Amino acid sequence: PAPTADSVLAGLDPEQRQVATTLQGPVCVLAGAGTGKTRALTHRIAYAAHSGAYVPQRVLAVTFTARAAGEMRTRLRDLGVAGVQARTFHAAALRQLQFFWPQAIGGTLPSIVEHKATLVADACARLRLQADRARVRDLSAEVEWAKVMLVDVDDYVREAAKTGRGEPGGLDLATVARVMRTYEDVKADRGVIDFEDVLLLTVGILDERPDVAAAVRQQYRHFVVDEYQDVSPLQQRLLDLWVGGRDDLCVVGDASQTIYSFAGATPEHLLEFPRRHPGTTVVKLVRDYRSTPQVVGLANTVLSQATGAHARARLELIAQRPPGPAPTFTAYDDDVAEATGVAARIAKAVRAGRPAREVAVLFRTNGQSQALEQALADAGVPYVLRGGERFFSRREVRDAVVLLRGAARAQAPGSELGGEVRDVLSSAGWTERAPGATGAVRDRWESLQALVMLADELAVKRPGSTLSDLVTELDERASAQHAPTVDGVTLASLHAAKGLEWDVVHLVGVSEGLLPISFADSAEDVEEERRLLYVGVTRAREEIHLSWAGARTPGARATRSPSRFLDAVLPGAGSVPGARRGPGQAGQGGSRAKTKTPAKCRSCGTLLSSGAERKLGRCDACPPTYDEAVFERLRTWRSAVAKEASVPAYVV
Ligand code: ATP
Ligand code: MG
Repeated sequence: PAPTADSVLAGLDPEQRQVATTLQGPVCVLAGAGTGKTRALTHRIAYAAHSGAYVPQRVLAVTFTARAAGEMRTRLRDLGVAGVQARTFHAAALRQLQFFWPQAIGGTLPSIVEHKATLVADACARLRLQADRARVRDLSAEVEWAKVMLVDVDDYVREAAKTGRGEPGGLDLATVARVMRTYEDVKADRGVIDFEDVLLLTVGILDERPDVAAAVRQQYRHFVVDEYQDVSPLQQRLLDLWVGGRDDLCVVGDASQTIYSFAGATPEHLLEFPRRHPGTTVVKLVRDYRSTPQVVGLANTVLSQATGAHARARLELIAQRPPGPAPTFTAYDDDVAEATGVAARIAKAVRAGRPAREVAVLFRTNGQSQALEQALADAGVPYVLRGGERFFSRREVRDAVVLLRGAARAQAPGSELGGEVRDVLSSAGWTERAPGATGAVRDRWESLQALVMLADELAVKRPGSTLSDLVTELDERASAQHAPTVDGVTLASLHAAKGLEWDVVHLVGVSEGLLPISFADSAEDVEEERRLLYVGVTRAREEIHLSWAGARTPGARATRSPSRFLDAVLPGAGSVPGARRGPGQAGQGGSRAKTKTPAKCRSCGTLLSSGAERKLGRCDACPPTYDEAVFERLRTWRSAVAKEASVPAYVV
């Protein structure tokens, strides 16, 4: 039967129902992991659409990742609602920027630089500053920080001193400010903008052009924001402009899952929301629908030790699901043994009938994935490494789509998707079996395999569909950045796992030095690491397996001990043979100011391991984070804005 307003509500508990049906005034949902925040949001949209309160095209649903946006779209389609714009801040802003640029600025949108390193190095050269890799990395991160924090270059020295930013790149703050200015000049000279510029420029246009703001507000009238605890000041500013003082806004979040502080995220926006928006309906959800009592118990224990501002907003989770197996804790000698052990366990489960896509292996740093990839490949278990971000920008995907489009045109009308897709993709390099290799070859295959699987899926869902139906589907997905997925075990960083869930979760490397990561040197940093563990644990529906390795490589001396976060759950954990908390590893306390920025991915915060990753300033799994458009640049074009140009209606 087709979904109706009533049937949409039937799948919700009373508090979730309140979220779905309170369509008057702002709504703020404060709730822990797995309590159905995302579900309540999605059902709110579906309920409002079915009851006639919302026109789906007028809803903007902001999600944290492209994958989450894709999942929301799929979920809404299953609930009988199409046309909702479910996007990340970035994707939504980019679309508006592309649309309005010709009228508001003139010409076409400049190209977006994939990473800042080259530009920052260039800025250093202009200032005759030495630009070694570490300095460029630190300065890039600092440029990004200032932009997402909405700190103007003119105020940077004061603001950075106030927040204890130390000496980024080993330079005094005044020099850093000069680098920031020059960086903007370099960008302007090259005619490019960076990742943060996309949001900043959108903010600038909406701010400066009431006609543009009116067109956007005409299009979007209802707003929902998922993962609101991780919103940055820049994103908040953009949201304010979109909403434009109206109150049809529903935000959901969990302060205990703030894991992007390094990127300017602050749960203050969430906690302060009811005060900023008088008349807000605050809803708290405490029933955990995702996980077994065993998993929920572990999550509660991890959080019970938390301290600081985030901890005060904590809500104890109450498990709803029937009991399952107890969490397991396993010590391995070294990383290779750990990877092999985990892979063997997964292979056994998959042989026993557990679908591979229902299993995830989560880790703190992307450097940990290599050993796991190898071990899974050796055990014959399919796996997916990349999160599907920027899927449609990948070269092999673009090439494949061109080939498919050509083949679709050549196809006789009425002929059906089956073998033909495989033939076409074979000419793009696809093979029936996954290549034994890891790295770029494997990535490429994975992309093409995702297209094959999508074709298969389509053939099952819509029998009789043709190649051109596939191409249409691909075009739709490309515009929504909704990547197809490969069936396999997910390998992901803890940061990338946010909001997702699997039946079985293996959390590897739960040791001192990795979780908390060695460079977590302030008390706040350590708390964020604890929240990462909480996020990881709460991804599991049925089984959670935690493990760690004493040494990095076989035969090396064991220097790592189990994570301090396990102290409360693991009696005598410190007694792993040979393992101890080494000097130089994270200590409990002190809130001393950071003096260096470690090699973290600008986008997801995982520790960067390979030289190539560090050069880029981001991990392989993440889309390029862009630096934000500097304010000076903003001012330059502001003065050039063509005020008279008429703005067309913005229709998505
Ligand atoms: P996170 O904080 O990790 O993002 P969340 O609060 O957004 O979690 P959801 O992902 O919405 O939680 O829900 C967790 C799981 O519980 C999902 O599988 C969802 O379908 C299920 N669930 C949520 N609410 C209910 C309910 N009322 N009845 C049955 N299942 C539910
Ligand atoms: Mg969620």
